[in-house]
Amino acid sequence: MRLLLAILTALAFGSVHAAESTPDSSIFGRHNFIEYVPGDLPLIISVPHGGRLKPAEIPDRTSGVVDIDANTHELARAIASVIHAETGRHTHLIICRLHRSKLDANRELAEAAQDSPLAQQAWTEHHDFIAQACDAAVKQFGVAFLIDLHGHGHADARVELGYRHDSLDLADCDEALNQPTYINAGSLRWIAQRSSLSYSELLRGPQSFGALLETAGFPATPSPRMPVPTQPFFRGGYTIQRHCSAERNVTGLQIEANRPRLRDTEENRLLFSRALVQVLRTYFPMHLGIRLDEPKPVLEAQ
Ligand SMILES: [Zn+2]
Repeated sequence: MRLLLAILTALAFGSVHAAESTPDSSIFGRHNFIEYVPGDLPLIISVPHGGRLKPAEIPDRTSGVVDIDANTHELARAIASVIHAETGRHTHLIICRLHRSKLDANRELAEAAQDSPLAQQAWTEHHDFIAQACDAAVKQFGVAFLIDLHGHGHADARVELGYRHDSLDLADCDEALNQPTYINAGSLRWIAQRSSLSYSELLRGPQSFGALLETAGFPATPSPRMPVPTQPFFRGGYTIQRHCSAERNVTGLQIEANRPRLRDTEENRLLFSRALVQVLRTYFPMHLGIRLDEPKPVLEAQ
């Protein structure tokens, strides 16, 4: 009987591990605070501020921002659904289900979890899952593209693209932006090291993410139309800084979606998701050398 139990346990344990590598099959951290949906694309979307869980065991954070980015979980899942419908492929999703009053996963640990061991655990899991997803993508394709997805409530209705450069940085001339100081500080460094385009073109030229998004019908900055964002503007936070590393072959950006027309209703989330996927289908071959609908594994990671 004991042997049978051991075999059954081993089988169950084995099946758990098999599930870990199954695209589109969720893995949860402790207490289900963090959800990871593994994918089979070099695209990872993390969503730190859309959670609604408020467990009593975690005290409310007493400093920092505590408002959630409404409907960003739903937006991320809509984007993944559109990608799956169009390509048959799955996006890696990392979703923090805790309300921001309990955990801010896009901050350094001290501000993020404010001494709650349960929140600290969730923060660690959130970033471990992102790293795990990026590692899997790099192993398979040689590069990982990370989008940290947010929603902003700024008066200027445009999508804010955070490459770790604020409005003052972007007010600098192109010549200055093309210097290593800026390139090395930005989340597109991996692309910049391989691109024939200048760094300022990658940030706000006609082939930039912002330009493509505007062509797809959604005002964005930085872009050729608005190369210098009006303030306030989110430049990209902790997650992008920590995970987008040219040495580890990870690149990407923070996307801040305004609410009306983008994430307020299910229909609008679908329309924005379709536009964003159209952008990614152009951006991936142009800047990563990989097609979104037919990603070709590289022979050897660079
Ligand atoms: Zn946010």
